[in-house]
Amino acid sequence: MSEDTAANELAAAAGRPVLEEAAMEGHTTIGCGGPVDFLVEAVSTGRLQAILQTAVRHHLPWIVLGQGSNLLVSDQGWRGLAITLAGELDGYDFHGNELHAGGGLLLPRAARLAAERGLSGLEPLAGIPGTIGGTIAINAGAFGAAIGELVLQVEICGEENCFRLEREELDFGYRSGNLPPGTVVSRAILALKPGDAAGIQAAVRDFRARREAGQPRGRTCGSVFKNPPGNASAGELLDRAGCKGLAQGGAEVSRLHANFIVNKRQARAADVLGLMNSCRRRVYKSFGVELEPEVRFLGDIGLEPLK
Ligand SMILES: Cc1cc2nc3c(=O)[nH]c(=O)nc-3n(C[C@H](O)[C@H](O)[C@H](O)COP(=O)(O)OP(=O)(O)OC[C@H]3O[C@@H](n4cnc5c(N)ncnc54)[C@H](O)[C@@H]3O)c2cc1C
Repeated sequence: MSEDTAANELAAAAGRPVLEEAAMEGHTTIGCGGPVDFLVEAVSTGRLQAILQTAVRHHLPWIVLGQGSNLLVSDQGWRGLAITLAGELDGYDFHGNELHAGGGLLLPRAARLAAERGLSGLEPLAGIPGTIGGTIAINAGAFGAAIGELVLQVEICGEENCFRLEREELDFGYRSGNLPPGTVVSRAILALKPGDAAGIQAAVRDFRARREAGQPRGRTCGSVFKNPPGNASAGELLDRAGCKGLAQGGAEVSRLHANFIVNKRQARAADVLGLMNSCRRRVYKSFGVELEPEVRFLGDIGLEPLK
């Protein structure tokens, strides 16, 4: 079947237009990466499943894309379909102390809405610029808290069906949601605690200010490496290995926080990856620690072996 047929059928399944050759530099926070073949919005679970089934029929690999805030896409792009969540799938509702959120709802927005209602829990996570689904998929966290601790239930959609998993059936790990492979977090229920709205809002502001003081501004994908086991964080090891300020092409290791790489001037993914390789080698040589990427790669892209 031709690409035209795939695009037409995806558009029919989604009930909206499909973007072809969609450049990922516009869909990732670090602002680099080549095109994906197709980009489409899913506005309901029914539409989402129809899109997934169309992708399978056309042998198209697919991913769900949140804010692209933890993603590095190859400069050559990726031959597949990226699906974003919108409509019913980025909405929200409050039921008592529970936030019922679409997988596409932005976490900072969720935190603000909860704080306005006097619901506590999301304050430390309020500055993470991802979606509810994207943060659950990697169990994003900050200031000693992680989204998984708040999850009561998730709705998961795959090519065959949508189903719910309760808290007891979920297995969150450090920066890992351990969700079934090939699935989308379409909705989630978060359990929050009642509190004083003004106090919760002040805590949100405080956590944001601490983040702003310790992390670079500009285009980044957050921490590029996970913290290794042990006492020293990836940022400390990278700093002690002399990585701050290293540059390649348009990318630079932040001078404020060594675990952040900033796209200063039209950086390519290859520049970011080159810096990740250099930094990782330095840390390995200095401390014998093998840093693992926190950022996810898409396309023909990956770290060089250390040994
Ligand atoms: C300035 C900055 C600060 C950051 N600070 C933090 C921090 O403090 N803590 C932290 O943990 N992270 C942080 N990050 C990284 C990032 O925001 C998180 O990893 C976030 O969880 C990514 O969410 P996203 O929606 O952007 O996902 P994306 O980057 O779009 O996708 C990441 C992965 O999740 C998958 N995914 C996305 N949505 C879904 C879904 N609905 N269902 C299933 N899988 C999905 C994607 O397919 C991909 O594999 C930061 C990033 C930036 C740019």
